[in-house]
Amino acid sequence: MQAITAHHLTRLTHCPCSLYLHLHAPQSEKSEPHPFLLHLQELGLIHEAAIASSLPHIPIPDGPIPSRAQFTHQLMMRGAERIYQPVLLAPPLVGIPDFLERTDTPSTLGPHSYRPVDVKIASSPHPEHLLQLGFYGLLLGRIQGVIPETGDLILMDGSRETILLHNHLPQVEEAIVQVAAIQAGREEKPCLSAHCAMCPWEQHCLEIMKAKQDLSLLNGLSRGRKGALNGAGYRTLSDIAQANPEALSEVRGVGERTAQRMVLQAEVLLQNEPRILAIPELPRKEVELYLDLECQQGTQVIYLIGVLEVGQNGAERYQAFLAERPEDEGAMWAEFLDYLGALPEEITIYHYHNFESTHLRKLAERHGLGEPLRVKLFDNLIDLHSVLKQSTVLPVYSYGLKSVAKWMGFSWRENGSDAAMSMLWFDLWLSTGDRKYLKLAVEYNEDDCRGTRKVKTELGGASMWSE
Ligand code: SF4
Repeated sequence: MQAITAHHLTRLTHCPCSLYLHLHAPQSEKSEPHPFLLHLQELGLIHEAAIASSLPHIPIPDGPIPSRAQFTHQLMMRGAERIYQPVLLAPPLVGIPDFLERTDTPSTLGPHSYRPVDVKIASSPHPEHLLQLGFYGLLLGRIQGVIPETGDLILMDGSRETILLHNHLPQVEEAIVQVAAIQAGREEKPCLSAHCAMCPWEQHCLEIMKAKQDLSLLNGLSRGRKGALNGAGYRTLSDIAQANPEALSEVRGVGERTAQRMVLQAEVLLQNEPRILAIPELPRKEVELYLDLECQQGTQVIYLIGVLEVGQNGAERYQAFLAERPEDEGAMWAEFLDYLGALPEEITIYHYHNFESTHLRKLAERHGLGEPLRVKLFDNLIDLHSVLKQSTVLPVYSYGLKSVAKWMGFSWRENGSDAAMSMLWFDLWLSTGDRKYLKLAVEYNEDDCRGTRKVKTELGGASMWSE
């Protein structure tokens, strides 16, 4: 029987197909890991080492899994206060939490027992962290005869989040059954999701999904909703394109408006032709701004407010309001507000999707915003993503800025750049002091602002709308 690890459970949570491909597909078919994930791994190790150096512990020496598990068990029997990188073995389950900490709850070990503690590079617990911690709790139950009531996650800022393990055990047990079935060969089909963009199997899966006209190519269709549609007999894009929207809306989780949009989206994808629903009416103001924010991984600190300013004569000026250190966020905000205050009253501020409006509000809460500027900023914001979705259907799999602006013919200077890379560049700037990383982040942000302008130009212009 193959070992089942916390790593398997994490893969399963992200995408069952990625676990299937990891276990059964030729590994030559996957591409290189996304650099951001490698960086995250590296940061995780650094963070873990920093936490370990601040907590007295007994480490488990390197070696084969069985001997590390045996050494861990000996330390547990002796009642060691804290064990670093213990190996918990109850075949087929194997778990290596970052720490075990002794508690006063009696167990088969004696008048004490252990609870798991895991270090994470995140500002709040993610679902896969809870599953992992629950998995370690379950393993401890098998080893010491008692499942600990709680475990801790140590987060990015060093704070501890205590998790009630019993709440997550049913999910852990179900995940173990699923992992075992996939290990035994149960095939899992790809399903397009937010995880695909950073997955090394993306190209492999896209080819399969396109060949099969897979429903997940419909923007925003979750795995659950896809399953419900499949169950109701809708298996391909053609099935959806030919469907009666009223009948489609009776499928669980599909409302009337979603059904209508799905039929249109499927037709557009099959024909590879955009569809216009309405010509958007965008205001004509003295100055147009195209605004894009960049944030730091983990902390959600905004480190860059980029603005492409376009005057009535079409003259452009890009400005980057930059917090070179996270603690400079307030000063950056003040500088941006000075700039905003000096602009004419007649402005429109375009952005793409709700990240910008959400974080502008958070910046205002954190650092303040006077009433006149609040009105000037928030009353003039226009979300082009929302305008685009209301006015057109495009032959794209995602309505994210990258996908949409690229479809419109725009390209980013740095190949492979994305929001994750922007976070990576900022972290690299902070850790190395090399300004080339800041420059890359600013260039990427400028391209995002220009990409946003491209969307607005196409939406407000005649080119793509003419027959
Ligand atoms: S590309 Fe998407 S569907 Fe394919 S394995 Fe990765 S996450 Fe899953």
